[in-house]
Amino acid sequence: MTESQLKAASNKVLCTVSRIQPLTPTVQQVILTPKAPVEFKAGQYLQIYLSDSDKRPFSIACAPGFTFEGKPALELQIGGAVTDNYASQALAHLSDNTEVLVQVGLGEAYWREDSTNPIILLAGGTGFSYVHSIASAIANANLNRSVQLYWGLRNSQALYAADELAAWQASNVQYQLNLVVQEPDANWQGRTGFVHQAVLDDHADLAAYDIYIAGPFAMVGVVRDAFLAKGAKREQMYADAFAWL
Ligand SMILES: Cc1cc2nc3c(=O)[nH]c(=O)nc-3n(C[C@H](O)[C@H](O)[C@H](O)COP(=O)(O)OP(=O)(O)OC[C@H]3O[C@@H](n4cnc5c(N)ncnc54)[C@H](O)[C@@H]3O)c2cc1C
Repeated sequence: MTESQLKAASNKVLCTVSRIQPLTPTVQQVILTPKAPVEFKAGQYLQIYLSDSDKRPFSIACAPGFTFEGKPALELQIGGAVTDNYASQALAHLSDNTEVLVQVGLGEAYWREDSTNPIILLAGGTGFSYVHSIASAIANANLNRSVQLYWGLRNSQALYAADELAAWQASNVQYQLNLVVQEPDANWQGRTGFVHQAVLDDHADLAAYDIYIAGPFAMVGVVRDAFLAKGAKREQMYADAFAWL
């Protein structure tokens, strides 16, 4: 067991489901209020127990220190395709219960605070939840650090968190936001295609970067191979989905 696995084992806690509200027609913001103190790092995930044998991982969207109505809380962003049972079954469980059991502080793809390398945050769809946690933590720390955020969206209706995106841009961070829409409509003026292709187009060599990645498994697999071929260092690429691929 690694040190973080040991810590997570003691981080099982009952939480009150304090809020479920839509961020888009298919993505819900969920706020959980733990009944006992929990610890996690920016970029870690939790597991919701649907039953003893059915645990679903979701990125913790907030940075450590997040509060809701004056109490320490956890934010999740859950959703994606309407046909996605993985998310819809978890949302049904959260809607049907006033309290849920979760295990917090899981995963090794957390933000490496001590590194001074420039950062690329890469999100596909609701992988933005993971990126939201790290970007919030960097902004909260008021670090003068280069952060390039790439968010790939199926369509422009999938975009949310406009306030946070604006706040990060106004912070001390040298921050560059790239929104990339896969299936643009006539009104979309921005970048199009697969989000990782935008990163490849913008960089001749990725060796200098710490790269944090979350999104559909198909995306994460493609990204790993394409970024390594573009010079990225494996030990500076972080994605919990690597463990599932
Ligand atoms: C540890 C862990 C944490 C998780 N946390 C969450 C969470 O917090 N919330 C949640 O809802 N789910 C979570 N999941 C489940 C899973 O990651 C989501 O189902 C996934 O991110 C959903 O993506 P989407 O449907 O929004 O993306 P889509 O809308 O399918 O895709 C978004 C973008 O990803 C890129 N992309 C997609 N497919 C490819 C491809 N084949 N090649 C290249 N690029 C591609 C494109 O740029 C596309 O526009 C988690 C899973 C694990 C293992």
